[in-house]
Amino acid sequence: MEQQQVKKKKPRGKARLIEGKCIACGARCQSSCPVDAIEMNAKEEPIIDEAKCIGCQKCIKVCPASAIEIYFTPEEQKLLDELSAAGTASSVDEVDSKEAARKAEIAAWKGVWVFVEQFEGHAHEVSWELLGVGKRLANDLGVELAAFVLGENIMHLADEAFCYGADTVYVMDSPLLKHYRTTAYLHGCVTLITKYKPEIVLMGATGLGRDLAGAVATDLKTGLTADCTGLTIDKNMRLLEQTRPAFGGNIMATILTETRRPQMASVRPHVMPKPEYVAGRKGKIITEPFPLKEEDIPTKVLDIIRAAAESTVNIAGAKIIVSGGRGMLNQENFKMLERLAELIGGVVAGSRCAVDEGWIKHDRQVGQTGKTVHPKLYIACGISGAIQHLVGMQDSEYIIAINKDKTAPIFEVAHLGIVGDVFEIVPALIDKLKQSNARPVE
Ligand SMILES: Cc1cc2nc3c(=O)[nH]c(=O)nc-3n(C[C@H](O)[C@H](O)[C@H](O)COP(=O)(O)OP(=O)(O)OC[C@H]3O[C@@H](n4cnc5c(N)ncnc54)[C@H](O)[C@@H]3O)c2cc1C
Repeated sequence: MEQQQVKKKKPRGKARLIEGKCIACGARCQSSCPVDAIEMNAKEEPIIDEAKCIGCQKCIKVCPASAIEIYFTPEEQKLLDELSAAGTASSVDEVDSKEAARKAEIAAWKGVWVFVEQFEGHAHEVSWELLGVGKRLANDLGVELAAFVLGENIMHLADEAFCYGADTVYVMDSPLLKHYRTTAYLHGCVTLITKYKPEIVLMGATGLGRDLAGAVATDLKTGLTADCTGLTIDKNMRLLEQTRPAFGGNIMATILTETRRPQMASVRPHVMPKPEYVAGRKGKIITEPFPLKEEDIPTKVLDIIRAAAESTVNIAGAKIIVSGGRGMLNQENFKMLERLAELIGGVVAGSRCAVDEGWIKHDRQVGQTGKTVHPKLYIACGISGAIQHLVGMQDSEYIIAINKDKTAPIFEVAHLGIVGDVFEIVPALIDKLKQSNARPVE
């Protein structure tokens, strides 16, 4: 009689906690488990349900303290040994070696890089702001902070980058990079990044930065978190924590790029403070040739047509802002805010409601879909303080809120809250300023 050969299945084992090693990191293991086999106890340590565990090892990979291991019953171990002796590599070993290779690949990426955006040799301010936050990230990781700049005749920007904190500047200087063209800048950036392997790359969320960052991240098959409002380091995992508003601004999400490098994030202008300029600070310059020829670049710049001179004020750079919301009731009442702003040397801005009502122009809108502002003084008049508004102004140095509703969320970020009618308080303030002959702040 013919004997049927039964194929033996390789056991996957079960996950178990190694006693005393859990650091209660916040239930990363639980959220990684695809079969809900992990519950957390009162000490925030995992309780692993053996019956449900499928031995996938996801919890082991995310554990920052290596506090979970795979174990096999004696029977499973015997079977593994047999299969191994029969020349069948254990699937666990395969996973382990793949995992080790992945970790080694990730460990090869080191350093924090900031893209210096420039136009006609002038750097965009956001580049220096990013060097400020980049320095903090680099210090937390114990690595170097570098800037990288592409363009034509841009060597002077390397000197400027050193003064704002860069240790090294990578320069790609070519006539073909004179004007921004996505293909050219994309190839330049990807060449630098793949050669020098920085673990973090930061770019400004400007028009140019948004175009370039997306193209670079796609080419490198890595993650990009756009419009971050916070950047920190998880020191246990050596990961960049990229925080930004999500779901229409109703929550703040912290996003990690765990398995790909570099970790890429963009930040809007004026979200991060500009670091101190240290004149004469020096560093290392590394130049790299531009890899393309003109015929490789499909876009040609025929002419540059400049926008008509801006008649409007740029609220993003204003030191004092008087901002109005729906509580101002109509456009006429904004004149009161203009008068107040004039007296204290400020500019008028507003909430999205004020813009939607047509009381002020869109370029004066503060918030998630407007501008991020960082003034020394922000006076919010008749603004409730929705999260989408707060993300654009909560880092102002001093916030005064005037609102007749004492529960309005704007009071949670205000340094001085005035519960009252804006139509009584603002005119009283104007009178007082006029009487005191106060001069506008320079
Ligand atoms: C995806 C998305 C993006 C958004 N982006 C933005 C953005 O960039 N910027 C932004 O601002 N919003 C944005 N919003 C809208 C945001 O959710 C709020 O609707 C908006 O900020 C509310 O504007 P407001 O505070 O002027 O109006 P309201 O929320 O209506 O508040 C009016 C306030 O005025 C007070 N008030 C009324 N009368 C007086 C008075 N006489 N004296 C004193 N106080 C008075 C009221 O108590 C109230 O608190 C966005 C929303 C979404 C979904």
